[in-house]
Amino acid sequence: MERRSFVQGAGIAGVLAAGTAPAVVHAQANIRWRLTSGFPKALDTIYGAADTFAKKVKELSGGKFEISTHAAGELVPMPGLVDAVQNGTVEMGHTAPYYYFGKNDAFALGCAIPFGLNSRQMTAWQYDGNGLKLMREFYSNYGFISFPMGNTGAQMGGWYRKQIKTVADLKGLKFRVGGFAGKVTSRLGCVSQNIPGGEIYQALEKGTIDAAEWVGPYDDQKLGLNKVAPFYHYPGWWEGGPQLDLYVNQKAYDTLSAEYKAIIECAAAYAHTEMQAKYDARNPAALKQLVANGAKLVAFQKPVMDAAYKAAMDLYSEISASNPAFKKIYDDYSNFRRESNLWFRFTEARFDTFMQSAKL
Ligand code: CA
Repeated sequence: MERRSFVQGAGIAGVLAAGTAPAVVHAQANIRWRLTSGFPKALDTIYGAADTFAKKVKELSGGKFEISTHAAGELVPMPGLVDAVQNGTVEMGHTAPYYYFGKNDAFALGCAIPFGLNSRQMTAWQYDGNGLKLMREFYSNYGFISFPMGNTGAQMGGWYRKQIKTVADLKGLKFRVGGFAGKVTSRLGCVSQNIPGGEIYQALEKGTIDAAEWVGPYDDQKLGLNKVAPFYHYPGWWEGGPQLDLYVNQKAYDTLSAEYKAIIECAAAYAHTEMQAKYDARNPAALKQLVANGAKLVAFQKPVMDAAYKAAMDLYSEISASNPAFKKIYDDYSNFRRESNLWFRFTEARFDTFMQSAKL
């Protein structure tokens, strides 16, 4: 008897009773889905996660589940991504959730908030804490389910034409900053602006803006900002570990077999790990080259960090007072952050501090 017809005839229960591997669960119609990215292809690490994901889904499904990936604007512009996934215009979107804080500030908690979780902590909160559960509960209001799919790690603090020495230096500073973080930098006196990546260089060169943050050495190097704004401050305290998410339209997801659902979960988890790995592997060489080409590395001074920290915590209290969805998630997030930092300060931080000052 041919295996396939035997399996179909016996049904899963019969197959399992007979001790035969349930190969039948692979049998499913070919499907083709579309994924819109919130990013341009030039951002190969972040956009690349969508390609990695689609490739893995195809491989794991034996070529039956195909997903085409599209750069921001090709099918829908980045700001319309959430609506497009919600409406089912596309089945999937890959983006930085904090871009959509205009809909609800709670979106930022699924990505990054100033003085939030680092990359390791964010993954821990999502996978083993309540993070994924709470974010999915929130996202269900928008008709989609989320999967962690990438993290950049702690970003840099950006490029400045003049060095930031004190909090007063931020007053009136025309600063390009992404997403939700502008709410905090504005409180410090910055004139916060959200300019697309492709327009940052010109704006800095012309003096339309005084400073701009983008990501970190690997991505920043491509923009050439070191030529027009040499002071490269760190750390990007507003993005200690921003997570990218895969959003999947819930109705479309519900039509999938358990096997295809598991494939999505595993392929997204693979892409999640790979993106952080790429940043960690590629940033060192890019940083060296930037410094060789004139970038002046300068740490933000503690009084600047302290003032920003206070502004951020005040903001979260205020949002929590008026936004129950934010409060519910932030209460859990902030508990996790406190406990995690209590642990990380011991062996992780001590080990890192020693190793990074050792002459290897
Ligand atoms: Ca950034």
